[in-house]
Amino acid sequence: MGKPNSKMSLLSKSRIMRGLQCVKSLYLTIHNPDLEPAPSASQQTLFDQGHEVGTRAQQEFPGGVLIEVPYYDTDGAIKQTEAAIKGGAQVVYEATFVNDGLSARIDILTKAPREGSWNIIEVKSSTSVKPEHLDDVAIQVHVAEAAGLKIEKASVMHLNNQSTAPALKDLFNLQDVTSMIGPNKKDLPKHISSLRNALTQGEPPKLEIGPHCHEPYECPFVKECWSHVPSPSIFDFPGLGAKAWDFYAKGIVKLDDPKFGPFTGSKAHRLNAARTGRRWTDTDGIVEGFDGWKWPLLHLDFETIAFAIPRYPGTRPYEQVPFQFSAMIQKEKCGPVEHVEFLHDQRTDPRPRLLAALVKVLSNQGSIVAYNKGFESSRLKAMANAFPEHADTLLAACDRLVDPLPIFRNSVYDPAFKDSFSIKSVAPAILGPAASYHGLTVPDGNAAQRAFVEYIDPTVTPARKSELQKSMLAYCKKDTEVMVQLVDWLVSQVNTKAAA
Ligand code: SF4
Repeated sequence: MGKPNSKMSLLSKSRIMRGLQCVKSLYLTIHNPDLEPAPSASQQTLFDQGHEVGTRAQQEFPGGVLIEVPYYDTDGAIKQTEAAIKGGAQVVYEATFVNDGLSARIDILTKAPREGSWNIIEVKSSTSVKPEHLDDVAIQVHVAEAAGLKIEKASVMHLNNQSTAPALKDLFNLQDVTSMIGPNKKDLPKHISSLRNALTQGEPPKLEIGPHCHEPYECPFVKECWSHVPSPSIFDFPGLGAKAWDFYAKGIVKLDDPKFGPFTGSKAHRLNAARTGRRWTDTDGIVEGFDGWKWPLLHLDFETIAFAIPRYPGTRPYEQVPFQFSAMIQKEKCGPVEHVEFLHDQRTDPRPRLLAALVKVLSNQGSIVAYNKGFESSRLKAMANAFPEHADTLLAACDRLVDPLPIFRNSVYDPAFKDSFSIKSVAPAILGPAASYHGLTVPDGNAAQRAFVEYIDPTVTPARKSELQKSMLAYCKKDTEVMVQLVDWLVSQVNTKAAA
């Protein structure tokens, strides 16, 4: 095994991964770390989730030796790993190896049946093996083998999205990727040598922006590298997808570049709106979009929690479980609304109490409005499946769902939407700054999930619990309030045209 050397400038597995995505990103994280923003609250939640999954995965290989040192103490980790292996450990968690300036921490290392050989297991909190995982495993095998370990098999252990709580039978799938990492492993020395070469230069590599800025991971240096991209740009134009890069490659970046396009149909209207700054509204399209809507309307919004390791009976990894709803009932077009809300406040399964409250507001009359209704529909169907006593009511509610989002997408475009028709983009553009979500303590669904986890924590103080309750109720209410106002606005467009 490689000897520990605290002065060695190590390239860790995660840094090599960063370099494989973009060498400039690796350069900046090493030479200009001050430019790198701290992880966002959402990223931190993902890290925490990964840690929880990693710890749970260790239980699948009980009796192992945990290499337990602070993350920066590579020397200590190597010493402990050597001691564990020499001491005859059959399983080692977080085994650490270093060789030739490269380091790798292996989630789970197990003794293989063949004498002197080992198996590497990389734990992922995803529900499938992704292409980038192969690089990840290839680096570990490369470093471990170079450090003198014989590796028989390398696997990715990921969550099984068919496993259900509370039994959590087969919570993980173990996929042998030994034969799949061949090409990644073969190219690795060449890539590492080129990364090292770039790191010795006096300035960052000149590298164009591209899809690699967001895939497979969002790069933290977008602010620096994208500073030459004007606002608005072709990247703010909706519906282009990967085609935006074809335009960029031809030097077309500005929306008013005459070479941008040509487009037909709604794209042509959107481009005209973006260039002139004047909103495009197709009233006939709005009328068509309202086809099938029936008043009274019930505007409905769920907030959900998705645990990597499911907690509620019958739920699977990452299943979105509603814990809160806001409903606004509007009897007539542009009329007043009545508000009903529910927020679960305990660690128990939120669905029984939520359903008891929800079925009271789901009358048999009129349409149920949900912005991007696919989400509410899938949640109603999942609860119908889990609670057959409510199935008829919930499935009937699914049939009544209508959705303002496609009406906006097909018939309205305001330059302030930029490339998104989400309610958070559309509402302030159409209704003004008061409809913005900025300034809310809980401003989005991810924040609502984090707030809920804290809210149901038995150690939370009453004062904090009350604060969280207020913020979560305000956020969910805002979603339905804004939905009502957006539908009122669409109706007013039709009425204005009819009156003209
Ligand atoms: S923003 Fe893009 S080009 Fe810049 S460092 Fe990140 S991935 Fe590389």
